[in-house]
Amino acid sequence: METLQDRALSVYKFGHKQTDGSKELKNLLGGKGANLAEMSRIGIPVPPGFTITTEVCTQYNEEGKEATIGKIEPDVRKAISEIEEMMDSVFGDPENPLLISVRSGARVSMPGMMDTVLNLGLNDESVPGLIAKTGNERFVWDSYRRFIQMYSGVVLGLKPENKDDLDPFEEAIDQLKEQRDIELDTDFTVSHLKELVGTFKEIVKNRSGQPFPKDPWDQLWGAIMAVFDSWNGARAIYYRKMHGYPEDWGTAVNVQAMVFGNMGNESATGVCFTRDAGTGENAFNGEYLLNAQGEDVVAGVRTPQQITKLGSQRWAKLAQVGEEDRREKFPSLEEVMPELYHELFDYQHKLEDHYRDMQDMEFTIQEGKLWILQTRNGKRTGAAMVKIAMDLFEEGLIDEKTALKRIDPLKLDELLHPVFDPQALKEGTINHQGLPASPGAATGKIVFFADEADKFKSSILVRTETSPEDLEGMHIAKGIVTARGGMTSHAAVVARGMGKCCVSGAGALKIDYKSRTLRVGDHEYHEGDWISINGTTGNIFEGKIRTKIPELSGEFAKLMSLSDKFSGMEVRTNADTPKDAQIARNFGAVGIGLARTEHMFFEVDRIKIMREMILADTVKGRKQALKELLPMQRSDFEGIFEAMQGYPVTIRLLDPPLHEFVPHQLATQKELAEDLHISLGTIKQKVADLHEFNPMMGHRGCRLGNTYPEITEMQTQAILEAALNLKKQKGIESKPEIMIPLIGTVEEFLMQKQIIQKTAEAVFEKHGEKVSYKTGTMMEIPRAMLIADQIAQHADFFSFGTNDLTQMTFGYSRDDAGKFLPIYLEKGILKHDPFEVLDQEGVGQLIQMGIEQGRKTFAELKIGICGEHGGEPTSIDFFHRSGMNYVSCSPYRVPIARIASAQAAIAAGE
Ligand code: PEP
Ligand code: MG
Repeated sequence: METLQDRALSVYKFGHKQTDGSKELKNLLGGKGANLAEMSRIGIPVPPGFTITTEVCTQYNEEGKEATIGKIEPDVRKAISEIEEMMDSVFGDPENPLLISVRSGARVSMPGMMDTVLNLGLNDESVPGLIAKTGNERFVWDSYRRFIQMYSGVVLGLKPENKDDLDPFEEAIDQLKEQRDIELDTDFTVSHLKELVGTFKEIVKNRSGQPFPKDPWDQLWGAIMAVFDSWNGARAIYYRKMHGYPEDWGTAVNVQAMVFGNMGNESATGVCFTRDAGTGENAFNGEYLLNAQGEDVVAGVRTPQQITKLGSQRWAKLAQVGEEDRREKFPSLEEVMPELYHELFDYQHKLEDHYRDMQDMEFTIQEGKLWILQTRNGKRTGAAMVKIAMDLFEEGLIDEKTALKRIDPLKLDELLHPVFDPQALKEGTINHQGLPASPGAATGKIVFFADEADKFKSSILVRTETSPEDLEGMHIAKGIVTARGGMTSHAAVVARGMGKCCVSGAGALKIDYKSRTLRVGDHEYHEGDWISINGTTGNIFEGKIRTKIPELSGEFAKLMSLSDKFSGMEVRTNADTPKDAQIARNFGAVGIGLARTEHMFFEVDRIKIMREMILADTVKGRKQALKELLPMQRSDFEGIFEAMQGYPVTIRLLDPPLHEFVPHQLATQKELAEDLHISLGTIKQKVADLHEFNPMMGHRGCRLGNTYPEITEMQTQAILEAALNLKKQKGIESKPEIMIPLIGTVEEFLMQKQIIQKTAEAVFEKHGEKVSYKTGTMMEIPRAMLIADQIAQHADFFSFGTNDLTQMTFGYSRDDAGKFLPIYLEKGILKHDPFEVLDQEGVGQLIQMGIEQGRKTFAELKIGICGEHGGEPTSIDFFHRSGMNYVSCSPYRVPIARIASAQAAIAAGE
């Protein structure tokens, strides 16, 4: 628990001597800091250090550098001296220097979005001291050149500014390699590294006009402030926006004693997961590199090796490496360092048990001693999310409610994405095999630069490797391919987090950014050429491969039925065709909450008759056209009722303004004039008459049915006859619910209800048989909320049309809001687009008033929602709390709504 006294601290220590924090303090210490504290509490070996809180970051943003340093300096100095004591070395001491890392850590993990500095504390004086202490000259020079490069990029801002610029430090490395005919960084000798350090220092002096800072304390303050600044860097801002994280969270800074994975072949560094982040399989897995620092694994510069033997064998198969070669050149950690592997295995087990969730860990082995540098709940694909939650539940680690709460409903969307059609796959030509970094299927045109991902409608981003700068483009692209990097490379981790299909480590791809070409063996591809990638198998195909809708079963089906156990609301669907109705049924919809009848009139053979009806001058003329439409509507309804097999189907009477149905182009107007044997002038006049200045508030909704009752009559007849026919011909009982749109006064409702009743009586008499039906209304005009008690005296159900209700409550036109909403969101005037996420504060009050008033006169009133918000999790939570009976959403949102509804019920009960 956070206490006032805790909050007063600006620095929280962790390590083997004293630990101030715990996993509960994520908001204050950031995820990384809280978990470092927790690990040291439960006996996992973490290098000692301390966390500067997120509150200090907020203070820094308000008060600036000097004031912040003034406030925290005594605590930071004290904490450093405790690390010195524990590590038996001294920060800034030339003989026995303590080196530290400085890392960011927000309350949620934002991989690669903020900055890190390693090896801090080195300078010309301490290099010889460290060499004497470690006896490892190469390691010290390697650490020094890495430190200068990293510090210069992060703190001094010496980074390439655009894609044509080269990183000056990388350029120097490449130059040296070329001059000395060296292939890998690991082949650099001490004298090469010394030379690089000299060149790097020159670069810093030339570019910044200042020498590289020598004083370790200057280095430390520079790094701390740079980490704070990175919270407001472009990458972090984009990531926050993408995930809706507030700006005022800030980041914590973790300062920690360095441990080294690059001290020779008894040292290593790696990343591992307690379960498979792509598929959810319960298999410990990960990657490591001998004699390397952490960034080498994630940067994808060297191809990392697998941690487990099984993983290594699977990898070798995909990479087409023979067993002998594998054992010799790419052995697993399990084979190379069996004892340390087992220690690591035990820690991962302990951590997963402790956190009761899949963990993503970083570790370093320094000369035979294992250290855990980080643990966090691992990012995972939608498929893995479902499997892991259900497996943990079945293993008894979490209960049913926790399993449901672990699901991010919106992430289920990924499981509903298309997969390659197996037949089309067989016919496709596989061009290359990479690693299956993030599952899924994607087809698109090749682009080579992230900032050009939007060049084509569907693009596949093809890169040697990706970096955090590429985030936005990765988001836009349909899929990602990298030539380098393993399963934990930046591309792989980020793609899995986004649920984006990714193939990494496709080593045979030769990418030439200058000429924008890709070579695979003898084949050459250019920007704009189509390729297809399978992130589940790692295959890369030439051209376009057909996709299909996935089948859902196994864990997904189990999860869905678990959600029904807790859910308090039913989930229906918005569907106008038997096909959509069927898709929604397969996803578990238990009815249709909105069938928009207008869509049915746009089909080629119908639109003409519809126009004839609209353009008719007399009731007789209109009735004649409606008579022709009747059998068509009837068969539409028969199809929908049949698809829904006895579940309720809410059909809305005609709603849009009539001008939407008439032609506005001259050529079509001419055609219509010929068809109807009237003059073009008459058509033009009619179209002009139908013009409205504000059609959304014009002649639409029940205003149509009340001015042209014959439309309501025809639709009612079609609905009821469809139900009668289906009963007679197929024995299917239908449950029609006739819904009257856009009601603002009780009289409007009563007049429509009367027409419906009269028509029903006539239909039943004609057929000598009855079906039961309901008559209800859409609640979408603010006035209806105020008189809901009166409407409820006559209505069987209410269905909230939150699209129109939002439009009319805000006074934002649904059609024109696109001009200003993005700016409002950018400026923070609105937190969300109110057409996407229900405005609970304003529109929500009206909804609650409507429900309360309605149930006052009709306690059993059935209430639902059929606006777009019916598929949005935070809005669903609100609808549950407001006492609705059901939500209705588009077919592909049905699983999302089912989970969100269960989560809402669980949250309300807690
Ligand atoms: C609504 O207004 O919320 C609604 C569902 O109807 P439509 O979007 O068709 O106006
Ligand atoms: Mg509406």
